[in-house]
Amino acid sequence: MKWWVSMPKIELHAHLNGSIRDSTLLELARVLGEKGVIVFSDVEHVIMKNDRSLGEVFKLFDLIHILTTDHKTLTRITKEVVEDFASENVVYLELRTTPKKNDSIGMSKHSYMEAVVEGLRAVTTVDIDFDSHKFNTQDSLNSIAMNDACDRTKRKRIHVRLLLSIDRRETTEAAIETVKLALEMRDLGVVGIDLSGNPVVGEWKTFLPALKFAQKQGLYITLHCGEVPNCQEVQLMLDFLPQRIGHAIFFEEEEWRQLKTSKIPVEICLTSNIKTESISSIDIHHFVDLYNAKHPLVLCTDDAGVFSTSLSNEYKLASTAFGLGKREMFELARNGIEFIFAGDEVKQDLVETFDSAAKKLN
Ligand code: 5GP
Repeated sequence: MKWWVSMPKIELHAHLNGSIRDSTLLELARVLGEKGVIVFSDVEHVIMKNDRSLGEVFKLFDLIHILTTDHKTLTRITKEVVEDFASENVVYLELRTTPKKNDSIGMSKHSYMEAVVEGLRAVTTVDIDFDSHKFNTQDSLNSIAMNDACDRTKRKRIHVRLLLSIDRRETTEAAIETVKLALEMRDLGVVGIDLSGNPVVGEWKTFLPALKFAQKQGLYITLHCGEVPNCQEVQLMLDFLPQRIGHAIFFEEEEWRQLKTSKIPVEICLTSNIKTESISSIDIHHFVDLYNAKHPLVLCTDDAGVFSTSLSNEYKLASTAFGLGKREMFELARNGIEFIFAGDEVKQDLVETFDSAAKKLN
């Protein structure tokens, strides 16, 4: 097995509906085609298309949401996404999703999230911990196997925590509803809030009350920041001092300075940035400057399904493109432990996992 696959990895920026297997999406599209809800031949090529601009990506998400937004499907895709990450040795996953309401099928934001949690419970091929309160206790349905000394050597293990995303199309009230839901679901592995969605839509001031409320309540916050040129918003986001930011592409000199001073960790999504043409070539990716400045960084997939990538692939890509060796990539992955939103017990477990893997590194 290649080292970028076998080494333990930490995924901190993965959107649930962007991480679905192509085969699952096609199957769902075929079923809706048969029911006459969509025309399968119209959507097949859209799903299979390889490179998409950022605008096209958001159009694809509207289609994906038609295919996936029912309780049963959400449970299925959550299970599959977690099992896929675990299969490539992701040992900690922060999975983010936007709770959605659909009155026509009796879906509330709450029931949407219950279906997601059901998907975590349904994971069977690997051992999973997702419940902060039950970690390392005999009660936890899925962590029982994690404590089984026999299984430990054979079965893959993954810690999963959830982030609830606020979509930039939402109103202040809808954003606050999402934060309240996150607070209610803290016992079920929800640790924070993400701001995402089409970056040319919505205004910072709309989301600020919800984000301030979340911050006050002790939820962790990560923001999609600088995906399109918008100096004023980038400044306001950095001033807000989120625990992490995603992307950080369109920054001016002053914002780079502010970011480096603030030491806010950046979730780097190489393939996503290249495929959406947010960055013209990997050679000029800001990863290099931030890495050389020893700025806190973590490699992530963004949307492994939509961009046909995997976290292992992101490590391989960074290693090849930036001339970094196996040990440097291992250290980069291990550094991610510091930026996770889960508690000390999980951090300690991850330290042990990486220590044990380090002994096998040659
Ligand atoms: P979901 O929240 O439905 O599970 O995952 C898909 C959603 O995540 C998209 O509709 C969009 O709101 C958000 N998303 C996925 N990828 C990106 C990205 O690269 N940038 C931004 N700003 N939002 C994204």
